Amino acid sequence: MTDAANSSAGPQPKPWIEAIHAYVPGKSAGADGKKLIKLSANENPLGTSEKALAAASKAAIPSLYPDPGSNDLRTALGALHGIDPARIAMGAGSDELLNLAAQGYAGPGDEVIYVRYGFSVYDIAARRCGATPVVAPDADYGTDVDALLALVGERTRVVFVANPNNPTGSYLPKGEIARLHGALPADVLLVIDQAYAEYLAPEDEDGAMAMAAAHDNVLVTRTFSKIYGLAGERIGWATGAPGLIATLNRIRLPFNAPSTGQAMALAALGDQAFVERSRIHNRDERAHFVERIEALGNHGLRPLPSQANFVMVLFEGALSAEVAYEGLMEAGYIVRWLPGQGLPQGLRITIGAREDMDAIADALASMAEASR
Ligand code: PMP
Repeated sequence: MTDAANSSAGPQPKPWIEAIHAYVPGKSAGADGKKLIKLSANENPLGTSEKALAAASKAAIPSLYPDPGSNDLRTALGALHGIDPARIAMGAGSDELLNLAAQGYAGPGDEVIYVRYGFSVYDIAARRCGATPVVAPDADYGTDVDALLALVGERTRVVFVANPNNPTGSYLPKGEIARLHGALPADVLLVIDQAYAEYLAPEDEDGAMAMAAAHDNVLVTRTFSKIYGLAGERIGWATGAPGLIATLNRIRLPFNAPSTGQAMALAALGDQAFVERSRIHNRDERAHFVERIEALGNHGLRPLPSQANFVMVLFEGALSAEVAYEGLMEAGYIVRWLPGQGLPQGLRITIGAREDMDAIADALASMAEASR
């Protein structure tokens, strides 16, 4: 498509823009258009807090621009997390903030580091500002701090770590995050992407928020898309030193956080009971699903340890991930197969309702049995 377009005498995209593979979102329907139960985008199976839903109708008037500073929402976030609201910047989802972090601190000739099987937006974020993505080897699909540090050099400007990581679900404990930060030069920005942090047990938190409060080179990003059940409203936020926040605010779009999203996110923050219910549901159903998949270990199915709201299941036996992906669609479920991310051997499955997880485990069991 682009080849044909760019052989003309018309406008030519920058070569680093042309090298980007556009983000591939999780699907919600099969190739034949059949509606499927969607466990492909790590959305909240409990939906959205009733309080947030009620706030949608009370949101500001659509003909008026949203509050450009998201002031009420930043104040509430600050109160909940013990952060000065001046140290918070809002984004149209945390995706926007990840892109802005790269754009603000890296450009042509610079390097942006992340781990293999890291979140796919890091590659796009690095390339779109002309920087060079540098990919560290993983440690059995997890983040390897030493491998990341081994790649840090003169040109390194930004290091991205998702904790927990998507699509693997892997997680670095506090000590490892501190060790990574401690070994980075002061002029390298460490972005800790905590899109799934609320799924962790409180005692497992990785300490990145405290690091963002204490150091000039740590930015933490969070989102309302996952546990808060507001993926459609596009509200993310970042916290870090005033200089980092000023950079993000300088280059973000002026009205990036929509009115309805701001109002719903504010109400969702006030319903921590819903957040806790979602966390417990995920913890329990994830444990149950992992147990069911572990029972298929003799068929080569291997669930990677996950701290997030999904599980990456590897297919290391006769049943391939691709065949299982197609078979699950037949059974009415769409999950995530990621050959484009170098993971043709796995399926990332979002944790949903018990009956859906059991139906998926049943379908995988019969496919595994049939392919022996
Ligand atoms: N970071 C990670 C690790 C994610 O998995 C996602 C969602 N796919 C995001 C950031 C971005 O989410 P959002 O833009 O909806 O906040």
